[in-house]
Amino acid sequence: MPVPLDPVRTPAAESAAAAVDPDEVLAIARALIAARSENPGGTEDDAAAVAGELLAGIDADPEVVRGEAWRPSVVARLGGAARPSLAWNGHLDTVPAGSADTWSHPPFAGVVQGGRLIGRGAADMKGPIASALAAAAAIRRAGVELGGSLVFHLAADEEVGGLHGTKVLLDGGHLDQDAAIVGEPSELQVGLAERGGCWLTLTAHGRAAHGSTPELGVNAITAMARVLPRLSEALPDVEHPLVGRPTVNAALIQGGSAPNVVPDRCVIDVDRRVIPGETDPEQVRAPFVALIERVRQDHPEVEIEVVVREWTDAAEVEADSHIAGLTRAALAAETGAPAVDRGFTGITDARFYINDAHIPTVICGPGSLSVAHTADEWVALDDLVTAARTYARLVVGFLGA
Ligand SMILES: [Zn+2]
Repeated sequence: MPVPLDPVRTPAAESAAAAVDPDEVLAIARALIAARSENPGGTEDDAAAVAGELLAGIDADPEVVRGEAWRPSVVARLGGAARPSLAWNGHLDTVPAGSADTWSHPPFAGVVQGGRLIGRGAADMKGPIASALAAAAAIRRAGVELGGSLVFHLAADEEVGGLHGTKVLLDGGHLDQDAAIVGEPSELQVGLAERGGCWLTLTAHGRAAHGSTPELGVNAITAMARVLPRLSEALPDVEHPLVGRPTVNAALIQGGSAPNVVPDRCVIDVDRRVIPGETDPEQVRAPFVALIERVRQDHPEVEIEVVVREWTDAAEVEADSHIAGLTRAALAAETGAPAVDRGFTGITDARFYINDAHIPTVICGPGSLSVAHTADEWVALDDLVTAARTYARLVVGFLGA
């Protein structure tokens, strides 16, 4: 009996990967970086226009979808048959560039130096979007007729939560594919899990008094200060093999009203990251309440309430899902090395696919999160090309030809 061909190494997959044009990948990435889309502070309209034009050029029928905030996400489809279908998601927005003089090169010029493309969004994630668009162009150029549909979801607003981007697509019924790839920078490894977040507000209540007679009041800032260095005591002893342990970070603090008044109020916002398996906000909140009780045993004047303000679920896809296996195989075919399963410490739009639409989804893209959001953000040109070839194989492998 003949050995069945590895779906990411069929002649069609090979020719699609071989048709990737490195110059095209770079040109698309530079055009996207030049189309500023800082969030907060800007919109994705210019970047959506660049991507839309490219998608129209390969007959992928781009459509701009907007929610109430009128931010643009681009939806496009390559291939004739509706099923099977594979979504490729990338966000069009970037974090702000910050002060240009902290950069060695202008953040939107797309300077290439030493094999690296430098600019805001180079890794997170206009570079990865360029790889995916170039892969689609290569599939076309190679004359490969896809056996299903590749659907692009180029979304607005990921950097501040995705509510005006992928969430709009979810609510509009666009997330109905058989599997999905989120192209966030994963150093060309296979992201299978990500952490979620629980944002808590802790409010210390004291008693105001004249600043010259503090003994007559209860200082809410001092009360909060007794709890702050002990916040990590509220973390459970749990660990996930890919994303590690939960973390806690005191992110914001407010308190007091004037230099000569004993403060009666101090508020902190706490960013508690959750791992897959942590699903109950009350279970995350309770250890903070218990911590405050322990502090009160020595300092009965401490009075702090704990409220869960916002919750985002962690997400995880099965390691033996079809899309995870194909992604590993496509990466191995291009890099010559076995791909490594990874976890993401941050939150991505993958959660909408996995948790809300129940679509098996992997995170896989060129570039490193360690340079995302920094000055001199960069991505290696070789990695952009490897990603484009990997996506081409993966798309042909998943959808057939
Ligand atoms: Zn990102």
